[in-house]
Formats: sequence, C-alpha cells, structure tokens
Amino acid sequence: MTNIKVFTIAYFVIFLKTIKMPEQEISQLEREELERKEILKRYKALLRSIKHPLTSAQTKQIRAAFDLALGAHKDMRRKTGEPYIYHPIAVAKIAAQEIGLGTTSIVCALIHDVVEDSDYTIEDIERKFGKKIATIVNGLTKIKEVFDHTDSMQAENFRKMLLTLSDDVRVILIKLCDRMHNMRTLESMSRKNQLRIASETLFLYAPLAHRLGLYNIKSELEDLSIKYTQREAYKDISSKLNAKKAARDRFIKKFIEPLKPKLENAQINFEIKGRPKSIYSILKKMNHQEIPFEEVFDLFAVRIIVDSSADREKADCWTAYSIVTDIYKPNPARTKDWITTPKSNGYESLHTTVMGTDGKWVEVQIRNKRMDEIAEKGYAAHWKYKNEKEGIDNTNNGGIDGWLSRIKDILENPASNALEFLDDFKLQLIHEEIFVFTPGGDLKKLPKGSSTLDFAFEIHTHVGSKCIGAKVNNRLVPLSHKLSNGDQVEILTSDKQHPKEEWLNYVISGKAIGRIRNYLREEKRELADQGMEILKKRFHKEKIEFSEDNINKIATHFKTNSILDLHYSIAKNLIPLEKLTIFDIVNKKLVEHKPKKEAVYKAPINIKSEIIIGDDNDLPYGLSKCCNPIPGDDIFGFITIGEGVKIHRTNCPNALSLMSNYGYRVIKAQWKDSPIKADKIFLAGIKLLGIDDVGIVSSLSNIISKNMGVNMKSITIESNDGTFEGTIMLYIQDTSHLDTLIKNIREKHSTMKVSRIDVG
Ligand code: MN
Repeated sequence: MTNIKVFTIAYFVIFLKTIKMPEQEISQLEREELERKEILKRYKALLRSIKHPLTSAQTKQIRAAFDLALGAHKDMRRKTGEPYIYHPIAVAKIAAQEIGLGTTSIVCALIHDVVEDSDYTIEDIERKFGKKIATIVNGLTKIKEVFDHTDSMQAENFRKMLLTLSDDVRVILIKLCDRMHNMRTLESMSRKNQLRIASETLFLYAPLAHRLGLYNIKSELEDLSIKYTQREAYKDISSKLNAKKAARDRFIKKFIEPLKPKLENAQINFEIKGRPKSIYSILKKMNHQEIPFEEVFDLFAVRIIVDSSADREKADCWTAYSIVTDIYKPNPARTKDWITTPKSNGYESLHTTVMGTDGKWVEVQIRNKRMDEIAEKGYAAHWKYKNEKEGIDNTNNGGIDGWLSRIKDILENPASNALEFLDDFKLQLIHEEIFVFTPGGDLKKLPKGSSTLDFAFEIHTHVGSKCIGAKVNNRLVPLSHKLSNGDQVEILTSDKQHPKEEWLNYVISGKAIGRIRNYLREEKRELADQGMEILKKRFHKEKIEFSEDNINKIATHFKTNSILDLHYSIAKNLIPLEKLTIFDIVNKKLVEHKPKKEAVYKAPINIKSEIIIGDDNDLPYGLSKCCNPIPGDDIFGFITIGEGVKIHRTNCPNALSLMSNYGYRVIKAQWKDSPIKADKIFLAGIKLLGIDDVGIVSSLSNIISKNMGVNMKSITIESNDGTFEGTIMLYIQDTSHLDTLIKNIREKHSTMKVSRIDVG
C-alpha cells in the first residue's frame, strides 16, 4: 500500500515537472486539487454514460448520492493508491453503461460501500433516499460482510446472498458490477487475494452473470479470472489471438463479401461483425478436447445484426438466414432458433454453422439490434425497451421471474445444507434446457436430462407425488425415463402412489428435488412420532421417567445423530430395542460417548509389524505407491536397490514386468493374521461412474465420512453430459473395510458403478 502511494505521488511529480512546474515539488494542496478535478471528470463521464433522459429530480438524487459517497470515503484509498471514490463511480458506470440499469441502481451503486466503511447507518440512507434504496444498500452491505470477512463457508454465504437477492434483483446486479470493477483492478492485490477472488469469481459470479444473461460481463469475468489463476495459458492464448488478428480480419472480409449485395437486394439494413471467442472459452475447448490452440477451429463467430422494426424482426432474420445458407452450406445439426423459443435468460438469436470457402466451419449468429443488446447486456437492456425511465422497476418478465422462483424453490427448502444447495445451484446453472409439450400442446421448459418425474412435478406437486409413469409420444415409459426436446408427455397417476427416497435419483430439477425432500422429511417426522410412542411405552413399562435427559442417554447409547433419528430408527426397527432393557442403559455407568478420534494418516512406510516377508517377521519394508496395497490384498515383496523391500499388489500394473524380469528379486510376502490395529491406516482409491445427480458430492461424503468415519484424502468429480466420473482417495483399514464402504455406496446409489481403482 505504502509503495503504491509513493508511486502515485511520484507519478504526479513527473507529470507536473514535465508539464507545469519543472523546478517545483508538488504540494499536498496541489495534489488534492488534481485529484478533485479527476474525481469530477469521472463523475461527469458517469452522467454521460446514462442513456435514458434524466428528470431533474433524478439528477439531484444521483448528485446527492455522489456527494454522500465522496464525503464518506474522503480519507480512504484503494489498494491502487487512488482515492476510494473512484471505485463507487466506476461501479455505477458499469451499472449504467454495461448493464443499462436505471437511476435507483446508479444511486445504490454510488453509495454501496458507505454503510460498511463510514459512520452512516442504513437509517441515514433511508431518511435521505427512501426505503427502496435503503433496502438494496442494506443487502449489498450484508453481502460484503459475509463475503469479505470470511475465507471459508463460501457455499453457505452464497446461499445467504441469494436470500437477499430474492428481495430485489438489483442487489445481485450491483454486486456483479462491484465484482467486475474489483476484477479489473485486481493487479494491485496480493497474490493470495488475487487467487481467492479470481477463483470465487469463476466459481460463483461468472455462472450467475450467465444465468442472468449478462454475456459480456460473464465473458470478461471469466477471462480476468484465468488471467490470474492460469497466468501462462492466458498470456499464451491472448498473444496468439493478437498475432492472428490480421488473418482473421481478412477471412471475415472475404466471408461477408458475397453476402452484402444479396442482403442489400433484400432491402435489409444490416451490420456484420466478426468477433473472436473469449480466451476462457478457447482454453476450455483446448482442455476439453485436448488439442493445441492451433487446432481450435472456431476461434470466432460472424454476427449479422439486422436493423428492423418489431413486426419485421423475425422475418428479416430468417431472410438473412436463407441468404447465408444459399451461399454457404449449413450444418443442419447446428442450426438453433432462439427467436421462436428464447432461452430462459432472455437470449434471442438465430444460430447456424456453415462451411466457409476454405473448408472451415464458421458459426453465424443472426439477430436484430434489440436482440443483440439483450444478448450482450442481458435483461436490463430488455427493460429499457419497456420502461425507459424507471429502469428495472418493470419486472413483468417471465424468464427472470421464473429464474427467481426456481432459486426460491431451493432456498425455501430449510433442511438443505450449504453443500447440497451448491450442488443444486450448480446443476441449475450447468444444465441447458429442453422443451417438452403437455398433451394439450402447452410448452414446458425443463433442464436438460429431466425425467418424466421432473415434468410431473413441473405440472403440479400433486401430479408429481402421485406419478407412476407416463406416456411419452404415446409410448409407456417409467418415472425415470429421460425426456428429449420436443417430447409430448402425458403423466399417469395413482392415488396409492407417494414419493420415495430413490426418486431423488431420477430427478434433477430444483422443484422436484425440493418437493420430494419435503415429503420424505414429513414422512420421517411421522414415523418418528410413532417411534417416540413405542419408546415412551417401554419407559413406562420399566417405570423410568420419560425425561429428555434419559432419552438423550438412549440416543447416545445407540449413537444416533439426534432424538429424531432415534425415534425414527426405533419405528423402522433399526434399533433392537427388544433385546435390551431401558433400565440398564439409563442406569448403567455408561462409557461416555466420545466423538470418534479423527483418523490421522500415517505414511505407510516402514510399518514393521503387519507383513511377514519370506519367513521373517521383522524385516523392514515400504508400501509401493503405484498400487497402494492394503491388508487383505494379495501381495509380494520386491527387493529394491537402496530402498529395502517394497510391497506390491500381485495385480499391480508393474507386477508382471517385475516378476518376469527380476524374478530373483521377488520375495514372498503376506499380511499377518493378527487383527490390524485400528490406528493403522492405508491409502486406497475408488473410482465412480454414474448419472450426474444432485447432491452427489454431499451424499458420497455423508456415506464415507459421516456414516463410516473414513477420512478422505481427495475427491474429484468430473461431470460430462449428464454423467460423471469420480475418484476418491481414502484412508482405509483393510480390504473388508473397503468392501463394506463400496457396498454402502452401491446400496445408496444403485445405478452407480463403484470399483476400487483397479491397477491390474
Ligand atoms: Mn465495492
């Protein structure tokens, strides 16, 4: 910080020396004067960036907000050394210029850090600017508190943030502008903070911007994130993109040449742009397809923007489409009509991929000016057309309301913990949509990968709960049947039906998941009531007081997580209550239930007592890292040079070559029969393959860590097209321990393939 300050002062010194006062040192007063001018300049640029005409009342309100912020941040500086007020001005400008938000948002953006950083209170803001603005600023202040003062618990914080968001969507839009400006000025932060902020941006804010249809903001956030998290790759791609710019321009020029006269003939006013893809999307493609930069073929898209009135826009877009595909051959599988059926984030456009003259595929996007603005700036641009003056007060938008209500569906589910929530939310973000029809011909949007059961819950909770199957395009299918675009679905119900635990494996929509979990929770509660009655009777029979204290003793004895779980387990007959007397449990001096000691991993080197090598009980050895043997495995010893005996599994990938080439160095080895001490722990890996399911990470860690008390070293889950592949490394006692664990996972996830990382 100090360094940067010095730098700023030095900068002004040079500036003044060369231009104004060659011999004189700059005084404090002069520097303040320069800064004051710069602040005003930036404020005026903000006012110019507001596109809708302002009433005098609005101008006054913005000025009042600016003055308040200026005073509140008077003595503060950013990490860059600049006056702090530059930041709120920049955030307000992003809100106005890049999202197209109205006066309310500009005012809120200007004062978004005031309550956090000065003595002003929310009450002061309300007195000065009214209730609405105070509510939004309050939301922004809260987000800042939870986010900037904790390092962990991201998921839970994010949930809180969205709870605030559901009050007023502007909170989230301004927060995105705030993050945008912070990312643009990230250079001056410490490396540690750069990494934290950049990953958080990539993980949380960019998907959020995408969901809100803020395409430009999303891409810039992504690009800036990898600029700090993957510095080398970023530099490499951006320099290659620059180097190819001239060739790209030539290509675009050649590509659009034959289109121009035909579009003019059709009397369409148009503009053609060629835009390179974002660095982030190029990098993603390189990694995903495992190809070098040079082989990424669609580095850019050609965009035709027609200028036509509302009643002609669709016809003109299709005319342009027909002209393009007359000249260039389209790939029919890659033509998308987002004009007839816009995406839920509001995106409208006609996409096609055509074969260029040199045999390269080129993506062509066709839309009109209004659609283009929505595509780049998102919903706010749409509101602009509806209600110029009141900014985004007009919220009669199906898509954004739909999005908010979907988020609310998830948030209203009080039992979902933060991790589950993040799984839900990420799935909501990742999934593309499909469109299916009701028997009456109504169109329903569902996330890609939805089942008939998702559809049933989308129609109505009652229909979902009673669903026994469906007719899809007149063919009978089960609940779990995955729907495709264009399917017509008729749900079949039965009054005897009710939601079941395994239904959670079939659904992916937030609504269905929420409703099923609610039902199961209710059901559990009812069963628990019955369990409580059973327990009560037992207490009564043995004449023991049915007190909380005594019930707790029972719960502790059976190691249930809660009293509710105890009652539930009794009702489900999971606890052999009959074989015990309550009296014993309550009155016996029970051993205090200690929480299981965290298993500490000890490097499995030189474990001297578990293996007999040759006939020797005490020969030192090490466990090989290539196959991680655990007690119960078939093993052999290999005499190494310098590292003593190494133990391998007999199905180790190296075993064959070791045994065949160095037979003389192989020595027999076997695990001792004596039970392995509980504190001896070995590293093993399992591999999972299955249908991408909501809550998969939390479900797995529940089974492994919570239920079995097994510590995990690492967990990686990679999703792809509705399926996922995962690897979990864990600390295990022996093969039977591992087998039980695998069995438990299979029981809970019947469709999942689970295996030990097989080295053979
Ligand atoms: Mn800020």
